[in-house]
Amino acid sequence: MKTVIIGAGPASLMAATQAVKKGGEVIVFEKMKTAGRKFLVAGEGGFNLSHIGELDDFISYYSHAEMANIIRQFTNEDLIHWLEDIGIQTYVGSSGKIFPIKEIKPAMVLTTWLNYLKQNGVVFVFHATLIDFDQNSVTIKTKNECENITFDRLILGLGAASWPKTGSDASWVSLFQSKKLEVIPFQSSNAGCVCNLPSDFLTQFQGSIFKNVIVSHKNNNRKGEVLVTEYGLEGAPIYYLNPSIRNDFSFPIIIDFKPNYQLTEIVDFLKKSKNTTLGLKHLKLPDAFIFWCKTYLNKDDYTDHKVIASHIKHFMVPINRLRPIEEAISCCGGVSWGELDTNLRLKKFPNISVIGEMVDWEAPTGGYLLQGAFSMGFVAGSAI
Ligand SMILES: Cc1cc2nc3c(=O)[nH]c(=O)nc-3n(C[C@H](O)[C@H](O)[C@H](O)COP(=O)(O)OP(=O)(O)OC[C@H]3O[C@@H](n4cnc5c(N)ncnc54)[C@H](O)[C@@H]3O)c2cc1C
Repeated sequence: MKTVIIGAGPASLMAATQAVKKGGEVIVFEKMKTAGRKFLVAGEGGFNLSHIGELDDFISYYSHAEMANIIRQFTNEDLIHWLEDIGIQTYVGSSGKIFPIKEIKPAMVLTTWLNYLKQNGVVFVFHATLIDFDQNSVTIKTKNECENITFDRLILGLGAASWPKTGSDASWVSLFQSKKLEVIPFQSSNAGCVCNLPSDFLTQFQGSIFKNVIVSHKNNNRKGEVLVTEYGLEGAPIYYLNPSIRNDFSFPIIIDFKPNYQLTEIVDFLKKSKNTTLGLKHLKLPDAFIFWCKTYLNKDDYTDHKVIASHIKHFMVPINRLRPIEEAISCCGGVSWGELDTNLRLKKFPNISVIGEMVDWEAPTGGYLLQGAFSMGFVAGSAI
């Protein structure tokens, strides 16, 4: 049995991990000069390998129902045990995110994993780009040469379109389309939001953090921290709301700066304060919000407790768009589920599986993305 895997991201590495257990030859081709570029980028920003949570709840974070069957076959618990098996201890952070223990840096996780694969016989070929495929062979370009390589099973883990400098540039999309395989257009996911707030306000307050706020969009909401940037807002609650925001830019983001207070409690508090400015300060509202009230409300509104309280509970931020895909943490879109069977094989090419972010699903940050990639790799690799 010869298994060819293309792309050396986490989904593919997990597929290789499972495939090599079945015996036979396993070769991984990667167009960059090293493996796991985006995996290491994820390492720079927190490196949530997964997230704790009871399975039904965990699965609810994924956009597509098809992911449930995939995650169930290789769960967050399975991941922790498997990481332990290859020598990577993990811990659960206060927010439920699963990290490698502090002594183990992201590069060490990757190196440990790659060494494990190499010791078990997996062969890696770098600077090797997929150009074409059919039922039994792939065309791979290395330097200036193109080579045809036959396979019994092919697993494609080519990634999506965000952070293209990591190698995941979605250049495979036209190849898939030429084979009449449906690819849903990629869009930004887990992206910051460009907001229609005054530019002088954004310039002055970029870098400010709104802590313990509830951010909502339509019927969806999320508690957490929001970062003000030169173009608008970033942060986990904004990322969580991306699917809702993407579907209706005409609806504003609403921030509740005091989720533990009722509107009437805030009005009473303000009434007892010497003046509005002192009241806002005593309520420990962010400087940026106080500045906004002082600068952009007229005097009557600024001194009206009900108006101020309603801005504290329902601060409306009009949306322009999400940040471009190149900057987004992940994407939605990709190979349509209609093209796949339950083991992630292409129905039109039953010897070929597609895994990871190149398939049409999305999930919030916090470990759900990597867990999705790991689980898909597990399913495709085990199905050999
Ligand atoms: C800034 C940032 C922070 C992140 N933080 C987290 C986090 O903390 N937790 C989390 O769960 N997720 C995080 N992610 C997301 C996570 O990194 C991705 O979900 C994951 O890397 C996707 O894995 P993949 O194997 O599907 O694709 P990728 O990791 O994108 O790998 C695809 C590989 O395929 C190769 N390739 C593409 N085309 C070809 C071709 N034609 N021929 C050969 N090779 C090709 C690419 O070079 C690449 O190496 C983060 C992402 C970013 C950008």
